[in-house]
Amino acid sequence: MPNVRVSLSVTFTTPPSVGAGGTGGTLADKVVTRNARGAFILPASQVRGKLRHACEQLLRARGVPLCQPPQPERMCPHAEGVKSPCLLCRIFGAPGRPSLLRFHDLTVRDADLLPEETLRPMVSLNRHRRTAEEQRLFLIETAPHFNGLTFENPEAITGQVRDERYVHVLLGGLKMLFAWGGGTSRGLGWGAVKAVAQVDGKTVEKFSREEVEQLCQSFKSS
Ligand SMILES: [Zn+2]
Repeated sequence: MPNVRVSLSVTFTTPPSVGAGGTGGTLADKVVTRNARGAFILPASQVRGKLRHACEQLLRARGVPLCQPPQPERMCPHAEGVKSPCLLCRIFGAPGRPSLLRFHDLTVRDADLLPEETLRPMVSLNRHRRTAEEQRLFLIETAPHFNGLTFENPEAITGQVRDERYVHVLLGGLKMLFAWGGGTSRGLGWGAVKAVAQVDGKTVEKFSREEVEQLCQSFKSS
């Protein structure tokens, strides 16, 4: 099976923020945390979740049959009219069928250049899970010089794919994440996502719009 490695960088054009008064997006959308060494990170789970959602939108808009979480009876392997597992579950995994891809945290670049007051950690207090939540810090909205804050990992996604076409679905989804940026009503300013994918050490040429359409057609017929 082909080995995949995707390098990712996410640059915020608006601050990644959280706050009681925040509108648009869920709290989870806005979480930036620290890792064990204290560095600010975009957690792998965030990247994976957002990317899965983007790929779902990309595929659904082009009529590729997919299951419909979260109701179990509409999810693979129970979804009616969908060959199980569906494409999304094949790429990202489903209960009992883990993905062969691993997602890794993106770490903030040039953390030492950021003014201390820019990164104002705010501890989330959750009465029920206080101990766990004390480890969870958020960045709260700050001054414009926050712009350009970049999180990156040259090995953000690694592992294997059963079908090389899956890499193009990932790249298509990543392109949509870019389109979401800029602090729109979605809340989180994922300004720019830069992705470079390699399969067996060779850089993958990004598909044109037409090629993405053809790719989706090929999934509809297979
Ligand atoms: Zn599915």
